[in-house]
Order: sequence, then structure tokens, then C-alpha cells
Amino acid sequence: MGYADFHRRSIEERDAFWAEQARLVDWQAPPRQVCDNSSPPFSKWFAGGTLNLCHNAVDRHVAAGRGDQRALIYVSTETDQEKIYTFSELQAEVQRMAAVLKSLGVGKGDRVLIYMPMIPEAAFAMLACVRIGAIHSVVFGGFASVSLASRIEDATPKVIVSADAGSRAGKVMAYKPLLDEAIRLSKHKPGSVLLVDRGLAPMERTGGRDHDYAPLREQHLEAQVPCEWVDAAHPSYILYTSGTTGRPKGVQRDTGGYAVALASSMKDIFLGKAGETYFSTSDIGWVVGHSYIVYGPLIAGMATIMYEGLPIRPDAGIWWSLVEKYQVTSMFSAPTAVRVLKKQDPAFLKKYDLSSLRALFLAGEPLDEPTAQWIADGLGRPIIDNYWQTETGWPILSICNGVEPAPSKFGSPGKAVYGYSVKLFDENTGEELTGAGKKGVVAIEGPLPPGCMQTVWGDDERFVNTYWKSIPNRLVYSTFDWGIRDEDGYFFILGRTDDVINVAGHRLGTREIEESISSHPNVAEVAVVGVADSLKGQVAMAFAVAKDASGLTDEAAKLRLEGEVMKLVEQQLGAVARPARVRFVTALPKTRSGKLLRRAIQAVCEGRDAGDLTTIEDPSALQQIRDMVQ
Ligand code: AMP
Repeated sequence: MGYADFHRRSIEERDAFWAEQARLVDWQAPPRQVCDNSSPPFSKWFAGGTLNLCHNAVDRHVAAGRGDQRALIYVSTETDQEKIYTFSELQAEVQRMAAVLKSLGVGKGDRVLIYMPMIPEAAFAMLACVRIGAIHSVVFGGFASVSLASRIEDATPKVIVSADAGSRAGKVMAYKPLLDEAIRLSKHKPGSVLLVDRGLAPMERTGGRDHDYAPLREQHLEAQVPCEWVDAAHPSYILYTSGTTGRPKGVQRDTGGYAVALASSMKDIFLGKAGETYFSTSDIGWVVGHSYIVYGPLIAGMATIMYEGLPIRPDAGIWWSLVEKYQVTSMFSAPTAVRVLKKQDPAFLKKYDLSSLRALFLAGEPLDEPTAQWIADGLGRPIIDNYWQTETGWPILSICNGVEPAPSKFGSPGKAVYGYSVKLFDENTGEELTGAGKKGVVAIEGPLPPGCMQTVWGDDERFVNTYWKSIPNRLVYSTFDWGIRDEDGYFFILGRTDDVINVAGHRLGTREIEESISSHPNVAEVAVVGVADSLKGQVAMAFAVAKDASGLTDEAAKLRLEGEVMKLVEQQLGAVARPARVRFVTALPKTRSGKLLRRAIQAVCEGRDAGDLTTIEDPSALQQIRDMVQ
């Protein structure tokens, strides 16, 4: 079947299509209904079916006699470790972790927050949670105490799993002090904290609350913890992401739809087969890490590489050496990583035998043409850009070579993936833009396909109002991205419609950064915008007004305050959120009704025309910024 028919069938004969895909996973009880869309925009996939994500990712492969095959390949160039777990070994480790979590009182439906570096125990913890029906919430290890506290408060975990430290470029990053501070800040307190001690940083333990994992694991070496069969709609995890407001949203994922979507994407998009090896360079703290380090490859019966380290340490050939060594067939990374490699000797791309590699998949941020061209030429392998979001859990736009091989177009992540009815709408009128070459908001008509978010954790109203009510007169899911479609149905993504920025593939809310900066005692108000950057895609730029500017008489004083503000953001949110610059101005450009003109600031910073300024209250405020950045 050609791709156009495949896609059409996924929409027009939705239930028959997804019933077939559902056969890719093991069900304890088969679903009674494929899609229950009786109360839009909420939809329930595979209602009546029961299954377990960990069973599908681990146990079923052992049961099929593949227990001795590789499942998890752990490589850390930070601690010089390389360790391989077969499916049987993974199953044993997950059961040990599950037994320990149970001993700490974790049961079905309880939340477990995972704040971990890229170590195998992080994957064990995720799989252990879904094994017993607990709901995990992984928080990226690069986030600091305030970010972490807001997530603890929202997810109200019974247990937090963490470690003494992560490591980046050989520098130890202690986690425990940040975690202790986050728990202190949070209104909700976890019952227990489970700690993996890597021996990298000293840890203070709070008696009665903190437990070391190693001795508890020893008590459960032979643990047999059966998989808890859960309803297809049972939440598997919550993953927080940034939006327009300062408060992060907990994206809630189901179990059945997610398992089916991942299994099908592994076959039709990522070209993976059981027994092969998948390498995603992301982090478990992001959605790519959930879907394509842990669950997707394992569900497909593949070995997955979990890599802790930089792409250029010990040298820029490290990733390609792993491709050769482990015969990686599919690899997944982000454009920023490629741009980092592009600054290194291109000979590294030719140093290793990459013949096992079918394709390199890139996602998370716009892939610029020079970067795509450079890596395509250097590797001599197909580069496949794909576009999606934390909310969707798997690609919205891609080339689906597993269905029918199709050419890529530079600058485009491809066509609508099967299951997704992707449309463009006028942001002001809600009119659908059907012809080629028209810029509109990228939206998805409901029901969202399997695997996408069910709701915002604990806040159905926010789910409806945020995602489904933003395009006038329509009940469609907004991606908050601008896009254009060409005459062949390929989409081009043109950036966010909201205040979300994308720094090195990391999604950040400018409002969160503004809130953090505003907490500095000498900041009266601040605007943060995303500015184009040749390496990171975008960087955050802050323009602030000081409460008391009397001390800001010279550059040195301004730099001192800038340094203080940056340190504050780093302590509260993490280094990922630290702005590239914090500049002090006497006023911020606003409309007469007092709205910050963020888009005008951004345009000026990027050297573009500031657009319609008829409503600006004080043009000199924008001029000040223009003078500063020029
Ligand atoms: P996240 O939820 O962190 O995965 O970020 C999702 C956002 O990243 C999307 O809404 C887009 O703005 C951007 N994004 C992801 N993949 C791509 C891509 N392939 N091309 C352009 N933008 C992308």
C-alpha cells in the first residue's frame, strides 16, 4: 500500500487501522473498543483492554526465548563505564527495583518522581514503576530546585528516586542538595527518597526518609514481582513541559495507546527490528528519552544504548565508534548535537564503519539545511527529520520509510504521520488554510491518535482550554507552531506561536525564566525572548528594569548584577534556563494597555523589522534595546 492510502486509511478507517496496529503488542485482555471518542476532546484508546508496558518492553521478549539477547547497553564516557544487560538481566534488575519500591509502599496509581542522571537505575526505575502500575514522573537532571519543587508539588509523589550526582564534561554535578532544597520548597513531601550512590559526591541523608538503593537491592536479589495488568487508559507517566504560563504542565500519557503507537512507529518510522540496536542520544528527562531510549526500542525487542556524556568527549568520534561497535541500525539525535559536531574535524565521520546504520533521525528543533547537508554528506546515510512534541509522544510529521520509501526535502520534517489529521488554520479567524504555501497554525483534528497526551495531570480544564480552544471557532488541538505545507504535502515548521523557546532542543517557557529573574530583589520587571543562535538554535535573552538603578552607573556594575541574576536562574531552574545575556534598560517596550511587546523585542534582537508598532506606548524603550544589540 502506498503511503497516501496508508495515511488516508488511518483517518477514514481509524478503528480497523489501529486494531491491526494493536496486534504489535501483547494484551492480557484484548480491547473491546478501538477508540472511544464519545466525549471530545478526550479520547480513550483500546478501551477494555488490559496490558502492561514493562511486560511488553521486557518480559515478553524473555518469554519468547530472547532472554540472552542484549537489551540495555550502558555507556558512560563520564565515569568510563560500559555495561550490557540482556533482557533476562534487565528483567531481574527491574524486579529488584520494583520490589524495593513496593517495600516503600508504592502501589498502583501512586506517583514516583525520578530525578536521575543517565544511569541504568533510571531506566530500571521507570520500568519498575510501570510494572507495578505506579505512575512515574521523570524530571530532567539539569533542572534545579525550584523547577523540581513545582513538579514535586504537582505530581505529589510517594517516593522520589534520585542519585548523588550526575557528571558533565568530567565535572560532578551534585543532585542531592538540589533535591533536598526542592523538597524543602515543596508543600508536598514524599514519604521516601531512594538514593543510588555512585560515589561521585557526598550525600547527607535524612533519617526515616532517605534510603540507599544498594543495600535494599541486596535484600531483593531474587525478587519476583509480577506485572500488574492495567487498563489501557491507566496513566503510565507524567512528563512536565513548558507552556505559556510559568507553571509547567504535566503531560499525562496512557498505557495501551502509547504501547501501540510506539510499537508501530518503531516499525514504520524508525525502521527497527528485534535483535537490532537503537541509539538515541537524548536524555531520559525528555520525551525522546521516554519514547526512544526506553520504551520504543525495548517494545520492539531491540537493544537500546543509554549514553551518559558529551558527543565530543573523549573525541568527536565517540558516537560513531558506538555505532560501529554495537552495529547500531537506527540512531536518533538533535540538530544542536550535529551543529556541535560540525565544529569538529569532519574526518571523525569517516573514521568508523557505519554500514549498519539505516538512518539518522533528528528531531526536537528546526533542522537547518546546512546542518542537514553536512551530516548527510559526512555520514553518507539518510537523515530523517521528524517533528513532534512532549504532548504527542511520537512523531506528528515524518517520512514513514517503513510504509513506503519517500524522498526527504531539506528543511521539512516530512508529511503528516499516519493517525494524525494535520491541518493549518488562520490564527485570527480559525479559517482552514488548504492550499499550498499558506502560513498557519499547525493543528491536529481530534481524536488525537494513540500515544498522545490524555490530559494535563489533575487539570482536565487546562487541557481543554490550553490545547483545544486556542484556534477560534474550532475544537482542534493546537501545536502552537507555525507551519506551511507545500504542494506535495510536506510541512515546514516556522517556530512557535507562543512564548516557548527552544534552546539546544530543550523546550523552555520564557515566563518561567521571567518569574525566576523577577525574584531577584533588584529586578522590577523583565522580558525574556528567544533569539536565533547559530549553534543552539535559540538562546534566551533577558531585558530587565532595575528597581534601584542608582548603582548601575557603569558597565562593571551592570555586569555584576547580570552575573547575580544568571546565578539565581541557574540555582532556581538549572543551567539550561540561564539566559545568554541579561541587559538592563530603563523601560520595557509595551502597548498602551501595558502588554509587553515580546515579539518586537525578539525581532529587534534578530535584526528584523519590529512589525506593527502603532500600539507602542514609548518607542524609545524599543530604541534603547535596538541601540544595545546593534
Ligand atoms: P518538546 O515538547 O520539548 O519535544 O518540544 C516540541 C517543540 O519543539 C515543537 O512544538 C516545535 O516547536 C519544536 N520541534 C520539535 N521537533 C521539530 C522539528 N523537527 N522541526 C522544527 N521544530 C521542531
